[in-house]
Amino acid sequence: MANQESSRVALVTGGTRGIGEAICRALSEAGYQVVTTYRNPNREAQARDWQQTLAGEGIEVDLVQMDVSSPESCEHGAKDLLARYGRLDVLVNNAGITRDSVMKKMPLDAWQQVIHTNLDGVFNVTRCFLDTLLEQKYGRIVNISSINGQKGQFGQVNYSAAKAGVHGFTMALAQETARKGITVNTVSPGYVSTDMVMAIDEGVRDKLQAQIPVGRFGHPQEIARMVEFLADEKSAFITGANFPINGGMFMH
Ligand code: NDP
Repeated sequence: MANQESSRVALVTGGTRGIGEAICRALSEAGYQVVTTYRNPNREAQARDWQQTLAGEGIEVDLVQMDVSSPESCEHGAKDLLARYGRLDVLVNNAGITRDSVMKKMPLDAWQQVIHTNLDGVFNVTRCFLDTLLEQKYGRIVNISSINGQKGQFGQVNYSAAKAGVHGFTMALAQETARKGITVNTVSPGYVSTDMVMAIDEGVRDKLQAQIPVGRFGHPQEIARMVEFLADEKSAFITGANFPINGGMFMH
């Protein structure tokens, strides 16, 4: 593994499970110094156990506490990271939640929580590192959106709106940073077998799977591959783009 001085530093939000964990593993194996977040300060011990498990496999991932829905928490976590490493090269805004319900029955807090986490969260974290990236004249930002931000999804006005917003954010920031060595892109996964998808009612899940031309859910590693590609220095001419990875479920 590359040492701390020579390797690029990558932050993956919400990387202790699911797609985020696969991204942490892929970037660590590619030689990045990877840092991820744990949301709840009371769950530091669990996060440390997870870190030890990965270390046992030769995967080193550092931890900072950050609730992406809270601007203050993001500022605190970002200060912590920058005090440790003095730089950030790759930012993967991955943390996200679902609170599904049809619009007619959706409580206000299900709307607000999803917008605060999935959309405000991208702003909250990115703003803490933007000056650093601009000063370095280098950065790779990858925002994890969703197929449902592209096409909308029954029962997900909150999630679909937040994820569509993420790509708007990506395209605007890509224009603002294009001449500063910074790229900003969106990856839009289709259905991937993580806790988020396993939480969907089994009958609904089977119907969703039947709509995927490839005939199965994606693996988290299949999303991580694209993030690793976009994070690479050589991907310098790709910015403001959206990369759907959905097994052919939505071709657009
Ligand atoms: P998981 O539910 O498996 O993991 C989500 C991660 O985000 C967890 O680590 C969770 O932390 C973290 N997180 C949630 N809220 C916050 C917060 N406020 N602050 C910090 N961390 C937070 O999700 P997936 O791996 O499935 O999803 C990852 C991303 O991919 C999400 O943005 C999701 O919307 C997107 N996506 C997923 C798809 C799928 O099919 N799985 C499809 C399309 C997009 P904690 O452990 O504390 O809960």
